[in-house]
Amino acid sequence: MTFRCPYCKEEFLKRTPFWAHLKSQHQLTAKDVLNELQNFQSNLSRWLEENEAKAISGDELNNNQ
Ligand SMILES: [Zn+2]
Repeated sequence: MTFRCPYCKEEFLKRTPFWAHLKSQHQLTAKDVLNELQNFQSNLSRWLEENEAKAISGDELNNNQ
């Protein structure tokens, strides 16, 4: 699972560099990030579902969780 920046579509394998990217590249403050995190996480889940749905379209989803 990757984290994709909603602003520039850059992908990150881990959450920490993802947030660091948002802070440094998109001028989000730590406070913004914390505030955004709650909204963003629900958005992120939806958004990952969409992206994953696109990524696997035609393929079986790997259910090994
Ligand atoms: Zn970005």
